[in-house]
Amino acid sequence: MRLVTRAQWGARAYRTPNGATPYSRPRRGVKLHYLGTAYSDRPHDQCAAYVRQLQAQHMDGNGWSDVGYSFLVCTHGYVYEGRGLSRRNSANGNTALNEQDYAVLLMVGSSGLTKPTDAQLDGARDAIDYCRTKGGAGTWLGGHRDGYATACPGDTVYAWAKQGAPRPKTTTPEKEKPMSYRDVWEQDAAPAPDSSPTKKTNPTWKPISFLREIYDLARETRDLVRDIRDQQKKGA
Ligand SMILES: [Zn+2]
Ligand SMILES: [Zn+2]
Repeated sequence: MRLVTRAQWGARAYRTPNGATPYSRPRRGVKLHYLGTAYSDRPHDQCAAYVRQLQAQHMDGNGWSDVGYSFLVCTHGYVYEGRGLSRRNSANGNTALNEQDYAVLLMVGSSGLTKPTDAQLDGARDAIDYCRTKGGAGTWLGGHRDGYATACPGDTVYAWAKQGAPRPKTTTPEKEKPMSYRDVWEQDAAPAPDSSPTKKTNPTWKPISFLREIYDLARETRDLVRDIRDQQKKGA
């Protein structure tokens, strides 16, 4: 996971005592969020500034003690530490919901850039796994809209969450599978079965019967070789 610590993104200190409130019990799982505003993609060297801006909105606009999310994932797949694993988030709607699940934001908008990138899905998956393995989160996975009246995290991210947040398909070409005899046969428009003498005489002939024919042929050849050998022994 490409974690960007608070020190690395230049976070402001959170307010105490509220910003330091720990979770009082284990988390059921993880809720995903989107920005819910217009968002346009940007070069990665501007992502930290955007996270600082979100923190300022939450602290100065909303009056919260810190950025609301547990983690924030940019379109380049980096995972920014928000309230982290032990401090209770303030993004899920109310205290009970904040207690219940971690809050992971994918930096996509309700307009502009609305679909997460593959790198971002990978980063979000990393954050979910991190919450589970290091933060004791259970396997429940959903969105801000679960149990709270909001469109967040948007239909695309929500559908992904409900599929279990699968990693995007890798673009690395799969190792080419060797073709089976049958594949080659079908690719060659099957001249072999048509020319098979068995097919003409047997109405129930199937492509797989060819294997039987080859086996029979091999056995005949073996017997023929044996006969020739026997004759040679007799002649010697
Ligand atoms: Zn949300
Ligand atoms: Zn970025």
